[in-house]
Formats: sequence, structure tokens, C-alpha cells
Amino acid sequence: MQYKAYAAQSPTTPLAPTNIPRRQTGERDVAIEILYCGVCHSDLHAARGEWPGMRYPLVPGHEIIGRVTAIGASVSNHQVGDIVGVGCMVGSCRHCQSCDDGLEQYCEGPRGWQQTYNGWLDGSGENTYGGYADGITVDEHFVLKITHPESNLAAVAPLLCAGITTWSPLRHWKAGPGKKIGIVGIGGLGHMGIKLARAMGAHVVAFTTSPSKIQDARDLGADEVVVSRNSEEMATHTKSFDFILNTVAAPHDIDAFMILLKRDATMTMVGVPDSPHPSPGVANLIFQRRQLAGSLIGGIPETQEMLDFCAEHGITSHVEMIEMKDIELAFQRMQKSDVKYRFVIDMATI
Ligand code: NAP
Ligand code: ZN
Ligand code: ZN
Repeated sequence: MQYKAYAAQSPTTPLAPTNIPRRQTGERDVAIEILYCGVCHSDLHAARGEWPGMRYPLVPGHEIIGRVTAIGASVSNHQVGDIVGVGCMVGSCRHCQSCDDGLEQYCEGPRGWQQTYNGWLDGSGENTYGGYADGITVDEHFVLKITHPESNLAAVAPLLCAGITTWSPLRHWKAGPGKKIGIVGIGGLGHMGIKLARAMGAHVVAFTTSPSKIQDARDLGADEVVVSRNSEEMATHTKSFDFILNTVAAPHDIDAFMILLKRDATMTMVGVPDSPHPSPGVANLIFQRRQLAGSLIGGIPETQEMLDFCAEHGITSHVEMIEMKDIELAFQRMQKSDVKYRFVIDMATI
């Protein structure tokens, strides 16, 4: 099967129209017409070859919302016509401890988890292609049910990566009533982090480098907003946080946030900058037994749990719709932190 797509042919070539092959709908497969795809900063890192191991042509996109057009003979969870989602993963070994635990993103199989784009393909050295395309075929285990109203599906797409990548650590480190939670960086991930932490009942403090986002952060649900470049403002929060989720996509001073943690508290990094952060000082860890951690997207069961929670609580992303041909402009704005707060591609425009 051939599909229309937008691909980078190398780290230095802009995304451009192309045609891509996908497998025939297999026994356990769901074939999906893609309606919307969110634009994650990871798409930009990957297309530009800012991370090692990228293979080209590279078709980004892992915040996919679409409609089922065909199902394989043994598919039981989805039907033709259903609205479904696909996130960052389309496969894993399904047998290891992490897969059994519903944490497929930490799959310990020989090939690890299969990424929606730039992932391994069965029986070849080729590359999976992502959601900047008009269709995709995915094993039913990795297809999520969408119960949000159909009137605003574009704003649901970013939940498939930005939503789950913030939900998973917020749940793991127990954000909730009585907890003071920091969210660093108000971009695609950060704005979802604010909404979700607030909905979980926590006291939410947003950290931004962009004073123009202060009011927005409050509107998104932050109880307090701190401009992180203002050291006096930062100092008023010393040793007060139960948990900080850091979503920043660029190298920066980690210590400025570590000292805001209480004794035994954790800061978890989810941003993956193209070059390392300056090394954090160990004294800030040692003297208050603080922890610095990382977290990768989220497993399929917790992604479904997050989607259902968001549908129940009326939570979606703040989106700016774009046409497929404007993706390079969107990337340029994303590089300048000028996104409010997630670009979503209307795939009817491909
Ligand atoms: P984004 O929309 O571009 O947001 C990143 C935000 O970081 C910006 O809006 C900005 O917020 C802040 N920022 C940017 N440059 C900064 C700098 N030099 N110093 C301090 N703050 C800065 O990106 P995103 O889509 O949310 O993704 C964020 C990162 O997470 C990316 O590296 C992405 O690849 C990664 N990611 C990781 C996972 C995972 O599983 N761990 C999953 C998805 C994405 P302010 O304007 O508020 O400062
Ligand atoms: Zn992503
Ligand atoms: Zn596995």
C-alpha cells in the first residue's frame, strides 16, 4: 500500500512530499486513515539528525488521531469506523518483564520497543514511518481507544505523546493533593504537565523563560508562575518542592532547580537536548538526599488510562492548526519557543 507523506531525506533537507509504502493489513493489524498529527519537538530533533542513529528518509509524527478503515481477522478491540490514537510506539517483544508490566517503552527484548518512526522493521534494516502521512497500519495492541467528543479531535492528538510523557512521571512520583509540583518549560509537554498535575489535585508551579507565557500558564492551571531567569524569584522556592518535572528541550543549569527540591524529593528529566546539560553538582544531591531521574513516554495501559481520564475531565491540548505544507515554519517557531502550545497538522491538507 502506498501513502502520501512528508519526509526529510537527510538532516539538512526540509521536509517535502513523498510516497511511502506500508504493509498490507495483517491478522492483528488496524489500518487507519490519519486525520490529525501533533508536532512534537522530538520530530524536529529527529528530522534534523540532532540525535544519533537517525535513518532517512525520515517521516516524523507520533501524535496520531485517525479513523479505522480496515481490521485484520483476529482484531477484537477496534472496529472499522472507530476513532483511534497511535502514540510513540508501534511494537515491542510482548514477552519480557517490562512488556508484561505494561511498560512496553522499556522493553528488554533484543530490539527494544519499536518506535512509530525511525523504529525497526521486521525482517529488514529499514525504518518505520510516522504520522506525517495520510494513513498508517499498526498492531492492535498499540492502537488506543478515543472517547473524547468528535468535535475537537485535533486537540486530542497531542495527548498521545505530550500527554502520556507528562502523565506517566506525574503518576509514578505521586502528584496529587497536598503535593507541590514544579513543571519546567511551557511548551507542548509542559503545558500538558500543568493541566494534568492540576487535575490530579496538586499545587502546581510553572517555570518559564518566557515572561509572555505567565498569564497563559495561570490560565492552563498553574497556581504560581516563576520566570526561571529571575534568581530572586527562584530563591523564594528553595527546598519546597515534592517533585519537579523538567521538559526543557535545550541544555541548561540543572542545579538552579535541584536546590528547589525538599529532602528526598526528585526532579525527573524528560527533555532530550542535542547536547548535554552542564553536569549537576553532587552537593545538592548529597546534602538533602535528592534524586535526579528520567522517564520515557508511557506504556500502553497507562496511555489508555490517561486518555480516559482526559475524556472524563474534558482535558485536551491547546493547539494551533497548520497545513502540512507549513511544517518547516512550525519547526522554526518551535525552535524559538514560539508555540502555543502544540502545532497540529490537519492531514486533509497533505
Ligand atoms: P517544546 O514544545 O519546544 O517545549 C520546550 C520548552 O522548553 C519551550 O517551550 C521553552 O519553554 C523551554 N525552553 C526551550 N529552550 C530553552 C532554554 N534554552 N532554556 C530553558 N528553557 C527552554 O518541546 P516539547 O515538544 O514539549 O518537547 C520537550 C522535550 O522533550 C524535547 O527535547 C523532546 O524531544 C522531549 N521529549 C521527550 C519524551 C520522553 O519520553 N522523555 C517524549 C516527548 C518529547 P518556556 O518558553 O516556558 O521556557
Ligand atoms: Zn513526542
Ligand atoms: Zn518486551
